Amino acid sequence: MKPFLKFILDDSLRRRFSEKVRTLTADDCWPFTGSLDKDGYGQISARLLTGKRTMVKAHQVAVALDGRDLPEGCEVCHKCNNEPCCNPGHLYVGNRTTNSLDVVRSGSLRGTKNPASWISEADCSSIRTMRIAGESLKRISLSFGCAESTVSRICNMKRRAAA
Ligand SMILES: [Zn+2]
Repeated sequence: MKPFLKFILDDSLRRRFSEKVRTLTADDCWPFTGSLDKDGYGQISARLLTGKRTMVKAHQVAVALDGRDLPEGCEVCHKCNNEPCCNPGHLYVGNRTTNSLDVVRSGSLRGTKNPASWISEADCSSIRTMRIAGESLKRISLSFGCAESTVSRICNMKRRAAA
């Protein structure tokens, strides 16, 4: 995956982006309906900080619109392994050298019916720990980008079934 390019979140980009993403429930993948690049990622034209216009990855725009910081050299990765997906809850900002979660998550299956299959075993135990510590389902679901029902399901399970 190519590293992130600094683009400007102007009104034109916001509008074109929202017209091209099919927004479904928090658990579902939100497909980008515009053009896809050769790797299957959604792409959209944007103005860079340098003033040039270029095509940037739609899922990177999704994370920027979600208000998350995209530091130099970061990569925006899919927890769902679904390249055109622009659901910010399925996206996380990784760092090529330090993100060990990639290794855990790369084992997740593509096209699986389980919407929470991308949640790693390590995430599941953090979720349970947070819940035991008294965090609300809502707060946990927001920090892991999954539905409250998923959090509740994880807390009620002893061990996540293999995907
Ligand atoms: Zn997705």
